[in-house]
Amino acid sequence: MNIIAYSKALYTTWIYYSPERILFDSGESVSTLLNNKIYAIKHIFLTHGHVDHISGLWSLINTRNNAMGDREKTLNIYYPKGNKGIKEYLEFIKKMNSDLKFKLGIFPLEEGEKIILREKSPKKYIVPFRVTHTYSEKSFGYHIFEVRKKLKREFQEFEQSKLAELAKKYGGDYISENFEKKILTVSGDTYLLKKEDIKDTEILFHECTFLKKEDRKYKNHAVLEDVLELVKDTNVKKLILYHISGRYGRRPEKYLEEYVNNLNMEIYLVKPEKIFRL
Ligand SMILES: [Zn+2]
Ligand SMILES: [Zn+2]
Repeated sequence: MNIIAYSKALYTTWIYYSPERILFDSGESVSTLLNNKIYAIKHIFLTHGHVDHISGLWSLINTRNNAMGDREKTLNIYYPKGNKGIKEYLEFIKKMNSDLKFKLGIFPLEEGEKIILREKSPKKYIVPFRVTHTYSEKSFGYHIFEVRKKLKREFQEFEQSKLAELAKKYGGDYISENFEKKILTVSGDTYLLKKEDIKDTEILFHECTFLKKEDRKYKNHAVLEDVLELVKDTNVKKLILYHISGRYGRRPEKYLEEYVNNLNMEIYLVKPEKIFRL
């Protein structure tokens, strides 16, 4: 299991991605539901400053400082640079926890800035990208990239034995080159993402606040029909719809039924009030 998520539009949203020990957003209930896994978190990436995405941060920091676990591990928090609300909230949290036992790193991020998650092979890094949510503040989505190797174009037709011979003679870099594979994309709260944002990503978390088009009043959230149209021909392997409004009841999957046959990817829903695991 690599992912644990919990999300209900307007109430709370957080996604824990365990391979890199990253928490995306930190809505209420994160400490209660993740329990002792909160000690495993190394990085928290915030998409924007709405309360349903940050309200659990105070309790997470407080719990990690006082509960039974490794209280000395550094925790780094990243947020869109210029967001005054988040900045003040983090200052308040620090003030309220003046005897923090761990180092709390706080980093405002620019769009496109690269944060290295892992130096040794396979190298991984995360990059924030701008999304369309509110006019009053900057909102980010995030991509995780993994650096992988592929055969150079001129060697792609060669037989395995010949490739092995060349690699032995001139070294592996002679026949192969690096490329950057998008392994995870988290949309944050946003109007529909762009095709180029999601192309070739392995796992896409796309917000899907509204399951019926007529329920959306403003252009600040996504609608099911549009997201399913967007992901066509993008090579996305797994689509996870989250930030779903609670108004659609306990079986939001019923709104999906008319579309799924046309899509060749795995689709999952993070149902409001249910812990999602993958
Ligand atoms: Zn939200
Ligand atoms: Zn929001």
